[in-house]
Amino acid sequence: MSLSNSLVQQDLSSHIHPFTNLARHKEVGPTVIEKGDGVYVIDNNGRSYIEAMSGLWSVALGFSEDRLVKAATQQMETLPYYHSFTHKTHAPAIKLAAKLAELAPGDLNHVHFTNSGSEANDTVIKLVWYMNNALGRPQKKKFLARQQGYHGSTIASASLTGLPRSHRDFDLPAIPVRHLTAPYFYRFGLSGETEAEFVERLAQELETVIDEEGPETIAAFIGEPVIAAGGVIPAPEGYWQRVEAICRQHDIVLIADEIITAFGRLGTMFGCQYYGFQPDIMVLSKQLTSSYQPLAAIVISDAISEVLTENSGRIGSFAHGFTTTGHPVATAVALENLNIIEERQLVDHAKVVGARLQAGLNGLASHPLVGDVRTVGLMGGVELVADKETRRMFDPRGALGGYIFRQAHEHGLIVRNIYDTIAFCPPLIISEKHVSTVIDAFAGTLDDAA
Ligand code: PLP
Repeated sequence: MSLSNSLVQQDLSSHIHPFTNLARHKEVGPTVIEKGDGVYVIDNNGRSYIEAMSGLWSVALGFSEDRLVKAATQQMETLPYYHSFTHKTHAPAIKLAAKLAELAPGDLNHVHFTNSGSEANDTVIKLVWYMNNALGRPQKKKFLARQQGYHGSTIASASLTGLPRSHRDFDLPAIPVRHLTAPYFYRFGLSGETEAEFVERLAQELETVIDEEGPETIAAFIGEPVIAAGGVIPAPEGYWQRVEAICRQHDIVLIADEIITAFGRLGTMFGCQYYGFQPDIMVLSKQLTSSYQPLAAIVISDAISEVLTENSGRIGSFAHGFTTTGHPVATAVALENLNIIEERQLVDHAKVVGARLQAGLNGLASHPLVGDVRTVGLMGGVELVADKETRRMFDPRGALGGYIFRQAHEHGLIVRNIYDTIAFCPPLIISEKHVSTVIDAFAGTLDDAA
């Protein structure tokens, strides 16, 4: 048996894949990715694919950035592990916290690390609860999130997630949360309604839910500046300003889950800067290390940090953290990753190549299978429909999207299907020429399906 066949067999017999139809996987088997090269990945049959999803929306610098390898190696050789419990720490974690505090807008000046985005959002829930207990308002604990939002897979973060498949058969949500309508104008705008009226209707819904629950019971609102894994849904103009104002009015903590939008994805350092709002907490991961190492960071405001510190002074240890919180290798890689993003001016570059991606995807809007093209910065979603007029879907389970996802491989392209929306989120380093390669390969894939 060849090595590749034996790897496939081992995968099928021993490896439970995340976010995968496990029964179907037994039939189709794995694609084993062996190597990375810039914006390309190469499988174990030597086939190369342009990676138009940056892995999982995350590999900003592409798949072969030597400086990140060197940063990791150097840190491994110097101090491969230490922690930050009980007053100990190490230089990479300190420097990265300072760097993120410097980059983050407004008074977001305090940083706590976790290993993954899900852990970060779980941690945020605990921080907010801890804060409200410290402030003597133990009843202010509920969360507001959105349908279609994605915030993670752990029990609490999956509860914030607004996707039925993340809840069904997992007995979730497990924390008090209300999911509001996603700002998804193409699907949820009413006939004859303008986008501005739609935003106003969503703002009214938010007010109504706060009123029903009682503002004294609502702790926080969490949202991705652009809903990504739930279908690439950029916020309509004015949406975030309305949400921000309503949160301020009712003393509700505003949390921007920037796990995908931070570090240049929208052509600004952070997504909240693109939309012009100021969160009280920002959650970061993915492009923070280009996902060369697992790491997430929570950046919190001066006011929230003060409450945490004061309360801890009263009751003792702030009893939360993980063995590998702020891991030295991960934080060293993140520092180098941010240096490179700044040195190569990749935030501005994302704007330029993003315009090219947007033009390319919008150029496919007249294709018979395309219902809606949604783009912002260097990301896009193309929603496929059976009927352009009525916007009827092919199949609510996304069979066509699944077909396109697989067929794209034949064109040397990796995209992702979110039901029948095809997502694009290429590495920040992508060139205009490679954006054209992505668009041409996708157009060819669409024609196969038409
Ligand atoms: N929040 C958002 C917006 C995400 O996109 C993701 C992952 O895709 C998460 C949270 C969860 O992060 P992780 O997969 O690192 O747990």
